Amino acid sequence: MRLERAGFSLDVAMELPGHGVSAIFGPSGSGKTTVLRCLAGLERVPGSLVDFQGITWQKGAHFVPVHRRGIGYVFQEATLFPHLDVRANILYGARRHGMPRQDKAIQEIVTLLDLTPLLRRHVCHLSGGERQRVAIGRALAASPRLLLMDEPLANLDQGRKLDILPYLDRLHETLRIPIIYVSHDLDELARLSDYLVLLQAGRVVQQGSLFEVLPHLETNLLDEQDACVVLQARVAARDSSWQLARLDFAGGSLWARDHGVPVGSQLRVRLLARDVSLSLEKMEHSSILNSLPGMVTGIVPGGHPGLCLVQVQLGDSLLLAQVTRRSMTEMGIHPGMALWANIKSVTLLEQPLGTRLGTR
Ligand code: ADP
Ligand code: MG
Repeated sequence: MRLERAGFSLDVAMELPGHGVSAIFGPSGSGKTTVLRCLAGLERVPGSLVDFQGITWQKGAHFVPVHRRGIGYVFQEATLFPHLDVRANILYGARRHGMPRQDKAIQEIVTLLDLTPLLRRHVCHLSGGERQRVAIGRALAASPRLLLMDEPLANLDQGRKLDILPYLDRLHETLRIPIIYVSHDLDELARLSDYLVLLQAGRVVQQGSLFEVLPHLETNLLDEQDACVVLQARVAARDSSWQLARLDFAGGSLWARDHGVPVGSQLRVRLLARDVSLSLEKMEHSSILNSLPGMVTGIVPGGHPGLCLVQVQLGDSLLLAQVTRRSMTEMGIHPGMALWANIKSVTLLEQPLGTRLGTR
């Protein structure tokens, strides 16, 4: 799709998977909202081609208007009807699509988002996180074929964000419709998305599966604190005497704090580059539990001029380690070198994949 504005041009080609959560990630002003508006049909962009699951929404003079696209749209700022209660706000979406008021699907949405206790409340008495849950419920009540979410957590403080993230996890697990999720927060995306498109100044810089793109993200576009990889892991064992869980991934095993996730569960694990150090020998006599053998496959600048990011292959997985340029020189780190990756901290991204109902 192409669009020209004074001081901004958008020229992007993206092909997103028809299921799961696709993320559009990029700094403020890179054109994320504009892409969503084009997809929704809120921007009419001549010369663009928009296809959705075999249906052409836009091509030449052909243009399917927004109300015919079957899109649910959740904005950064929940725009609820202030004179209505939660229930009426949610039913508004359903009524527009002629759904019966007691439809089972509505009940499911209410349950999914835990809205039952709020149904009779006026929306002016909701917290920011509750408002967003209602806004998501209202969007889903219209049984959309595609859900667009534009930085739905950006206006919430960290505490409220953590409150609402589990609901978004649940959407990810249970919804059969694709979600396109816009954010400039890599933390959210590492947890929620399957596919990642990196946008900069109206252009796609990188796109692909989250797991594959993260180790190669353009670091000049990132806050150096954010560089990370996400691994798919399985809880292989739990050691109750130390309250630790062993997580197996394609490339080794990691010990992490036991959060009670049952043995056999699949989950995502995030490793921040700044929590990974490198050594020439296995780290012993140290407090670090996870020291794994690997091979250097690449070295890229690490944001700050004194830092670099080293890509390390462990089996079938890639890790990132943030090291100083000085250490890199002193240790003689170069591509092809065998060394040990020492992982100080492992973040479990709670997301039992086994519960997903999608078609994957
Ligand atoms: P993002 O969502 O990534 O922050 P946007 O898509 O909102 O970026 O904006 C991309 C660019 O388009 C920015 O330079 C912004 O100033 C400009 N822009 C956004 N909306 C309009 C508009 N209605 N008219 C003119 N320029 C706009
Ligand atoms: Mg925006």
